[in-house]
Amino acid sequence: MKNAIDNVIETDGALILGAGIAGLFTALKLAPLPCLVLAGSAPGASGSSAWAQGGIAAAVGEGDDWRSHAADTMAAGGGLCDPEIVSLVARQAPHRIDDLIAYGAPFDRAADGKLALGLEAAHSHSRIVHVGGDRAGAEISRTLAARARATPSITLLAGFHAIELAMEDGRVTGLFARTGSGSQARLVLFRARAVIFATGGLGALYSVTTNPLEARGEGLGMAARAGALIADAEFVQFHPTAIDIGRDPAPLATEALRGEGAILIDEAGRRFMPDIHPDAELAPRDVVARALHRQIAGGHRTFLDCRAAIGESFKDRFPTVHAACISAGIDPARQPIPVAPAAHYHMGGIASDSRGRSSLDGLWVAGECASTGLHGANRLASNSLLEGLVFGALAAEDVKGRIGGGVLRGVPPAPCGLALPAPPHVLRAAMSRLVGLERNEDGLRQGLEAIARLERNAGGDLGNMLAAARLVTAAALARRESRGTHWRSDYPQTDKIGVRSFITLDDARRIGEAAPALQRARS
Ligand SMILES: Cc1cc2nc3c(=O)[nH]c(=O)nc-3n(C[C@H](O)[C@H](O)[C@H](O)COP(=O)(O)OP(=O)(O)OC[C@H]3O[C@@H](n4cnc5c(N)ncnc54)[C@H](O)[C@@H]3O)c2cc1C
Repeated sequence: MKNAIDNVIETDGALILGAGIAGLFTALKLAPLPCLVLAGSAPGASGSSAWAQGGIAAAVGEGDDWRSHAADTMAAGGGLCDPEIVSLVARQAPHRIDDLIAYGAPFDRAADGKLALGLEAAHSHSRIVHVGGDRAGAEISRTLAARARATPSITLLAGFHAIELAMEDGRVTGLFARTGSGSQARLVLFRARAVIFATGGLGALYSVTTNPLEARGEGLGMAARAGALIADAEFVQFHPTAIDIGRDPAPLATEALRGEGAILIDEAGRRFMPDIHPDAELAPRDVVARALHRQIAGGHRTFLDCRAAIGESFKDRFPTVHAACISAGIDPARQPIPVAPAAHYHMGGIASDSRGRSSLDGLWVAGECASTGLHGANRLASNSLLEGLVFGALAAEDVKGRIGGGVLRGVPPAPCGLALPAPPHVLRAAMSRLVGLERNEDGLRQGLEAIARLERNAGGDLGNMLAAARLVTAAALARRESRGTHWRSDYPQTDKIGVRSFITLDDARRIGEAAPALQRARS
């Protein structure tokens, strides 16, 4: 780090980057071990977590079983899920829901007092626990943040922009972060015995996304620049039903609406999904997203019709979606909602083992920034918040076993007027056009050229975002088959044997130069 450091803050405990659900849950599970949680925005309303609508998948209903949840997860994952990780997560899911209930999460209940369970696409049982209809993310984030604020071992610091990992003797020992801008800018070195990344996804690297603009892959980029192994980077999930009203980010029409029977139609009212997949609107997300993409590419408009399935109860049952529609002059009880696919979730991420350890000594990962092997080539709906909870708990347990208590030394500067660098329009447009729902070699090469131009001309503050974009694009170029969310129009076949991809940033640069079919099993 060349710039002068204004403050050094040290803790003998843990440092968590990210205050979404994964970061806050990890902090609570670490207690009473001291930990500092650093984030760009305010805990309780931070990251994609606060925007999650559907809920969390867990086999807690009568007649349901973790094995069924595991089987559905494996089926969605296109042959790339790690079966041991899938079993681990499906088995632990009910316990993590119990944890959330103990922390005070106000899950919706049925008349008999049991958890109310929703059905979502490609789940064979109703197993989605939810809050306030479609407010799961907002309410759970708020609950965890309140609990964290009341926990003496946790220090929450919002308004910091982390830019680089600090390394000593090949080990991660902290990170550098900025706060403020212009003459008020301060550079702070945070040092800790363990660093845990819970930095979320990268949807905002695409011009059409459901993610908040802080989901820019910076944690992925930072870890990769420090040499971490990155897994399955090419797999980006596009949500089929972002509400198409010209807003950035695009509001989401939750999958639960299709679970309740809403149908997809074109401008003439023709329902097209039954011709494409036996499960019609409840087919896996990649199938539905590509079907919409092709309708739109073929000159059609696409709509989610909730009139018959939900009708007048829409406002009470899906208040967030209702508000987004009404703000655009659409009454979803009476009119079909215009929808289009949008970048939504990154299955890839910093490669993690079953304890949340990354390949870098001293760095653990949890939540969307990690790639644990749970999702494979396509995430099953409502498995992502769950993964953050399960791996947050596992990482916390592992960290606790490695470090003892500790004190915080140094006083962080008060955060002031943080101005986060925006993902550049030219990058977002290139990612959507060239590295989106349908990819081919020419387009991916053009994508890598666009990233290289930005690296030469803009570099600096954009370095982590550009590294993340390069990893997705290079891994997509190297995977010469179509599988799950990764569709290559020049390689439409699916290889007989599915192999996860593991690459470093150096590998990604080499792929850009030579485009070898680089897919190797993790050694
Ligand atoms: C609209 C929408 C609806 C969704 N619905 C569901 C659902 O119903 N069920 C489900 O399971 N999943 C859902 N998802 C996905 C799910 O919300 C996310 O995968 C999950 O919330 C990720 O949580 P996280 O804690 O890993 O990251 P996030 O919640 O995204 O938090 C990331 C944190 O990292 C911080 N951060 C990142 N980079 C930096 C940096 N450089 N410096 C400082 N801080 C940084 C951010 O400030 C933030 O605090 C949805 C996603 C969206 C966008």
